[in-house]
Amino acid sequence: MLNKQAIKEFGESIRGEIILPGDPGYDEARKVYNGMIDKKPALFAYCESAADVVKAVNFGRDNNMLIAVRGGGHNAGGLGIANDALVIDLSKIRYVRVDRKTNTVRVGGGCTWGDVDHATHPFGLAVPAGVISTTGVGGLALGGGVGYLSRKYGLTIDNILEVDMVLADGSFVTASKNENEDLYWAIRGGGGNFGIVTSFLFRGNSIPENSIIGPTLWNIDKTEQILKWYRDFILNAEEDLYGFFATLTVPGPPFPEELHGKKMCGVVWNYLGSHATVDEVFKPVRDLKPDFEHLGPAPHTVLNSMFDVFYPKGLQWYWKADFIKDIPDEAVVQHVKFGKDLPTPHSTMHLYPINGAAHRLNGADTPWAYRDANWAQVMVGVDPDPVNKEKITNWAKNYHNAIHPYSAGGAYINFIMDEGQESVKASYKQHYDRLVKIKNKYDPKNLFRVNQNIKPSA
Ligand SMILES: Cc1cc2nc3c(=O)[nH]c(=O)nc-3n(C[C@H](O)[C@H](O)[C@H](O)COP(=O)(O)OP(=O)(O)OC[C@H]3O[C@@H](n4cnc5c(N)ncnc54)[C@H](O)[C@@H]3O)c2cc1C
Repeated sequence: MLNKQAIKEFGESIRGEIILPGDPGYDEARKVYNGMIDKKPALFAYCESAADVVKAVNFGRDNNMLIAVRGGGHNAGGLGIANDALVIDLSKIRYVRVDRKTNTVRVGGGCTWGDVDHATHPFGLAVPAGVISTTGVGGLALGGGVGYLSRKYGLTIDNILEVDMVLADGSFVTASKNENEDLYWAIRGGGGNFGIVTSFLFRGNSIPENSIIGPTLWNIDKTEQILKWYRDFILNAEEDLYGFFATLTVPGPPFPEELHGKKMCGVVWNYLGSHATVDEVFKPVRDLKPDFEHLGPAPHTVLNSMFDVFYPKGLQWYWKADFIKDIPDEAVVQHVKFGKDLPTPHSTMHLYPINGAAHRLNGADTPWAYRDANWAQVMVGVDPDPVNKEKITNWAKNYHNAIHPYSAGGAYINFIMDEGQESVKASYKQHYDRLVKIKNKYDPKNLFRVNQNIKPSA
């Protein structure tokens, strides 16, 4: 039991707010992005600075509390929050500063990717991230980061130059290639296992003012033809061109009315090259006569937030995932079957390409164990209504069972629910033991364990 006086003193010692069960904001505070998650923490600490985070870590540790750390709160399995825990919420540590001299970007540990895109775009820069702008920088960047710029500029972890972090003993350190090198290696994929990142320094990468972005969609009956074409096309495409493959149900506006509610397959594109070459680059796509095409120039900020409106906070989500090297014809058969069988309008399957620049790092450079995989695949059962929980869960699980035999083995750590130790090991494969050694050094008592946990052996 927590001593009321101790909590009061802790609350007064930080600049941010604390929230307890029974407080007016408690039920709002315990909501995360995935509406399926229903956890009741003991205490929320909304930290406003690294100093607040140090105090919160010390308070949690000294009072033997379970500690959860929340960045954007988007984690599939709700790993930013836990029952009876002290939740260290970072959402108030939110600033972005672009350094034009070095083309680097300093980002507060509680930012969303929308914050980063907004701040970097006027400078013609971007940091590779995902496909939804409300996702937190913290969880995505520490777990890997796949998205629209992966083929051109690599994974998000490939662009982390330095972090400031609070360790389990309350100390505040910097990790970079020159300082705490083991920690720098581990945080580029190892998630929140090693401490709380209060600030990231990213490489900023050049992007045009407007890229050519948007979807091309085909009727779901053409999934076999389009996927067989896509699997070869994207592996040989120039790195300026990115396109993830999806099966989906067309939502409402701005899509044309005759398509609303139709199941389709398609590719969402991002072309960073010269606008003069667009017709040539997209000729092979247009030769396949899409049933819907909406390609055009738009800023990177628009691309990264294009789907936000369709996926607001609070929907029910069930995630399954795999790394994929090849998509054999037998796997295509399964994609056709489960694509036609999408259980609800929000449910979808995405194949995110991670070839190109993401392949250039050596397998040992970061804990990302699948530099030879060509796609990070995710199948998500999604619906606003909790009544459909079982339906979306079963579809994702059955789909995964059918595809997993054609996968590379593990899955991207940020695309799985809370699936236990075997999944974590499969994700890190050959790097797991090295991660355990670093965990033993920096967090031997596993203070930071509400995550895809790397268990210390010490
Ligand atoms: C709609 C949606 C779309 C997505 N699209 C993509 C995509 O395109 N590409 C992609 O790579 N991923 C994508 N993801 C997955 C995303 O990377 C993970 O959900 C990630 O965990 C989100 O990070 P967060 O900070 O929002 O999550 P949180 O739930 O806040 O945290 C997730 C984990 O990270 C830890 N953590 C968070 N911040 C910090 C920090 N500053 N220091 C230490 N530990 C921290 C937490 O403790 C927790 O264990 C998507 C997720 C959603 C819900």
